[in-house]
Amino acid sequence: MRFDNFVDGQWIPSDEYEADTNPSDLDDVVGEYALATPAMAQEALDAAGRALATWRWSNPLVRSALLDKAAALLEERAETIAHTLAREEGKLVREARGELLLSSRIFRYFAAEPLRHRGAALPGLRDGFDVTVTHEPVGVVANITPWNFPLAVPVWKTAAALAYGNTVVLKPSEFTPATAVHLARVFEDAGFPRGVFNMVLGHGKVLGETLVRGSDAVSFTGSGPTGRRIVEMAAPAMTKVQLELGGKNPLVILGDCDIEQAIGVALSGTFTHAGQRCTSSSKIIVEKSVYDRVLAGMIRGVDGYRIGAFDDPDADMGPVANETQFQKSLHFMERTVEEGGELVAGGGPFEASRRGHYVRPALFAGTTCEMTINREEVFGPAATIFCVDDLDEAIHLANDCDFALSSGIFSNHMPSIERFRRQSKAGMVTVNAPTAGLDFHIPFGGRAPSGYGGREQGWGAAEFFTEMKATYYNHGVI
Ligand code: ADP
Repeated sequence: MRFDNFVDGQWIPSDEYEADTNPSDLDDVVGEYALATPAMAQEALDAAGRALATWRWSNPLVRSALLDKAAALLEERAETIAHTLAREEGKLVREARGELLLSSRIFRYFAAEPLRHRGAALPGLRDGFDVTVTHEPVGVVANITPWNFPLAVPVWKTAAALAYGNTVVLKPSEFTPATAVHLARVFEDAGFPRGVFNMVLGHGKVLGETLVRGSDAVSFTGSGPTGRRIVEMAAPAMTKVQLELGGKNPLVILGDCDIEQAIGVALSGTFTHAGQRCTSSSKIIVEKSVYDRVLAGMIRGVDGYRIGAFDDPDADMGPVANETQFQKSLHFMERTVEEGGELVAGGGPFEASRRGHYVRPALFAGTTCEMTINREEVFGPAATIFCVDDLDEAIHLANDCDFALSSGIFSNHMPSIERFRRQSKAGMVTVNAPTAGLDFHIPFGGRAPSGYGGREQGWGAAEFFTEMKATYYNHGVI
């Protein structure tokens, strides 16, 4: 079956289509999905531009009600969408259900935002003057999104943009078009005016330039090199850009903490969703007094993972999302051994009953921060474990890589926690909790090269998706 682009309230076919394959079963094709051309991306931008003229002035109650309706439709369709999402992306249905719930909550959060619109009124510095500061939509927003949270990321970028009066062209990942089509149907059925939400399917390399050059703002989540390319394309027109890029997130475990809890969190924070979360922990840094215990617990955990298809109720971990991720994960594992790391648990491909992109989770000891695995983002189920003498060494190792997204510490010693919090260069720090799975009402993101151009979610979204206007009134009343 074929699925199309959604532009100006219509489902528009393409000349070319591409098969969307189930990573849990390579013989299963989810559907054939349109490949839009740059001309169609331009049509979507034009439609969004026309719709902006009225949407930007729409009554906040209207925007609020439509976003609420979208949440309700997602909830109604949750089982169907979760199943499709897991089937095309590889996460377990259980994990996909969690993403559905998260996405509808995000819709509800942003549904209330039009009613909370901020502004300020201040006395001016000249007699008889007052000043107001109001927030306006930025305009037409291009949201370019990845495959790892194929619903939640498009929802948090799009619901936010729409809440503040922008119109949107969404370009979802070419690896997860089926979930995006479900989302577009939600916008259509919720009754958003035509052109307010548009979606073009296809490859970023083909559509990216048109989208970036033709929009007023770009919100992007994806890889570092693509993010850099977007900044370059946006620079001539000074288009507003927000990037959420990769991570290499350290989790420090000090000897004074609840060790069993720390082991459990280290495992789930690292290997949930086969390590394909930008906030997954990937460097586990353990104080030497408890290193042997943590190492043994981690090895037991990794060896105990049951790998299976997205719909296997007994599986702890699904396949990785696509062939590129599969090759990349295996490449990092081989490279780490070549560079002198010791594979202490798991690793390599996994033979399942169906042909798919299955990878065994892997844990490496004896690595250094110079090795590739500790410098580059794997975005797969592979992590390293370090033994350190003390907190100073732990902080040094935690900060010794380019990325700066999230970091975590396990400890019950407040001064150690506080020292770590202050000295970690990450944009988000967690204490006695996983480095991943963060809240949507809090600004999300890291410092460059993990993030660029402001935070998303929480009030970060309001900052990015609006522009301020200061108005001076000389009313003459003193
Ligand atoms: P990933 O490894 O997560 O696929 P990418 O950065 O390649 O990371 O992809 C994230 C999103 O960026 C996808 O929607 C993809 O199509 C899009 N994309 C890829 N290349 C470009 C580009 N040159 N310009 C704009 N978007 C791009």
